[in-house]
Amino acid sequence: MTTTLRSGSAGAGHEDGGGPRVGVLALQGDFREHARVLAGLGARVSLVRRPEELAAVDGLVIPGGESTVMDKLSRTFGLADPLKSAISEGLPVYGTCAGLIMLADTLLDAIPDQQSLGGLDVVVRRNAFGSQNQSFETELDVPALGAEPVHAVFIRGPVVESVGPGATPLAALADGRVVAVEQEHLIGTSFHPEITGEYRFHAYFLDKVRSRA
Ligand code: GLN
Repeated sequence: MTTTLRSGSAGAGHEDGGGPRVGVLALQGDFREHARVLAGLGARVSLVRRPEELAAVDGLVIPGGESTVMDKLSRTFGLADPLKSAISEGLPVYGTCAGLIMLADTLLDAIPDQQSLGGLDVVVRRNAFGSQNQSFETELDVPALGAEPVHAVFIRGPVVESVGPGATPLAALADGRVVAVEQEHLIGTSFHPEITGEYRFHAYFLDKVRSRA
């Protein structure tokens, strides 16, 4: 069983005693699941659809869903440029699946005109597991999160094809393909901790948010 971790230092550093202010990009995808996990860890969670809402948070989660749609909507709603600026100014961001695709500097198998926000020095291939095996579950070693393996659910997930010098792998499949990375204030996973009761990635992310807030 996965233990639900409470964020021990929630509230530290905030005058009003609340936890860190974390937004979840809510243009499309499984943002509600992320909001639930973050709230369970003591964060003050808000949904982000507009630049003003982005400006009010200390960290952001980009959920799983469909990166092509998220890309289009973020540009249509005038959020893409504010998101890029926030990322380059050091806003902590955690992307799962489509969110990892959004954070990648370079995309493979993108649709024509698809753009990412960038930030992670990685090359990411969309839908990397092909039609035979688009969805699967496996146990992953993630040394940064402790000895207990992570139960990882992949749903038409991407893979990190190469990791540049700026980024660090956090986890790989048995065949060596990288499926989780980190780079200073950014984290990306090919899979979906938000749907399995796995709170450790979000707790790890909240530590980054707290140390910057
Ligand atoms: N295949 C999707 C994409 O390209 C990602 C799938 C997911 O987020 N579960 O965005």
